[in-house]
Amino acid sequence: MKSAAFQYSRPGTVAEAIALLSAAGGSAMPISGGQSLLILMGLRLTMIDMLVDVSRLPELREIRDDRRHVFIGATITHATIEDGKIPDPSSGLMSRVASKIAYRAIRNLGTIGGSMALADPSADWPPCLIALDAEVSIAGPDGQRWEKAEDFVRGAYETSLLPAEIVLGVRIPRRKSARWGTCKVSRKSGAFADSMAVFVEASGEGPPRAALTGTTSHARLLPRVSQYAQDHSFLDVGDLRAVIIDDLAELVPDADPYQLRCHVATVSRAITEARSS
Ligand SMILES: Cc1cc2nc3c(=O)[nH]c(=O)nc-3n(C[C@H](O)[C@H](O)[C@H](O)COP(=O)(O)OP(=O)(O)OC[C@H]3O[C@@H](n4cnc5c(N)ncnc54)[C@H](O)[C@@H]3O)c2cc1C
Repeated sequence: MKSAAFQYSRPGTVAEAIALLSAAGGSAMPISGGQSLLILMGLRLTMIDMLVDVSRLPELREIRDDRRHVFIGATITHATIEDGKIPDPSSGLMSRVASKIAYRAIRNLGTIGGSMALADPSADWPPCLIALDAEVSIAGPDGQRWEKAEDFVRGAYETSLLPAEIVLGVRIPRRKSARWGTCKVSRKSGAFADSMAVFVEASGEGPPRAALTGTTSHARLLPRVSQYAQDHSFLDVGDLRAVIIDDLAELVPDADPYQLRCHVATVSRAITEARSS
């Protein structure tokens, strides 16, 4: 199918983009890489009157590295991160995660901000940025605000974005001694995850953080698993499995036996990879 007719505008500043979205009163949407939105429009699952193209806004292309954090503008593509063309606060984790998203043609256009704003329940950036304790920078009619990645993503295709707000970028703390692991299970190469776990720890730089996606709802921090990793430098496979199942019982009570097995496997492998690095 082809999309319904729509108007297209390319504002020159963030303020203009917000003004256009505000004036449209819910009948306009921002577009970045278009790798998800254009498909939804083509299927007529999303019907809008106007696309507000934010992909060339200079503010959304910024990279700032103040040595404590790296700020990555919303329109930075998965491929740019995969190729290591910007400073990396994650000791290689983000490049690895980017490389597993879809196919190179999609990674060339799809953006980190678009992925966060869409909040697909199986997308790769939400668990990665939650595990990295990142914050999302948001601008809207009432000014600018920051939100932790784990609070920004609220449900399947649901975020804390208010009408006419746009994502400016994400800010990720730099850790000197980070160890990480990640594991993604999908039915074929380039597909969305059935389950994906990310684990990050850095001695003396905050507690370990384990996050999971592919949960039918949204990416979540696993609090009991993170605590278990903090309390145990050596893993007991049986204890770890029990702790993962405790977290899953609370966070994904609707998971079927296949999903449960995938989640236990991805979380265990992510932690094991980090601990063996
Ligand atoms: C075949 C296929 C396989 C894929 N596989 C994966 C996968 O394995 N893992 C994965 O994570 N993703 C996957 N994707 C999704 C891909 O990563 C998309 O690029 C990404 O989800 C959206 O980024 P985008 O820049 O293209 O956003 P767009 O399609 O432009 O927009 C997506 C949504 O975000 C909103 N939006 C965009 N930018 C902003 C902004 N700055 N502020 C506020 N709202 C904004 C739009 O209004 C829209 O609602 C796949 C896509 C396809 C087509």
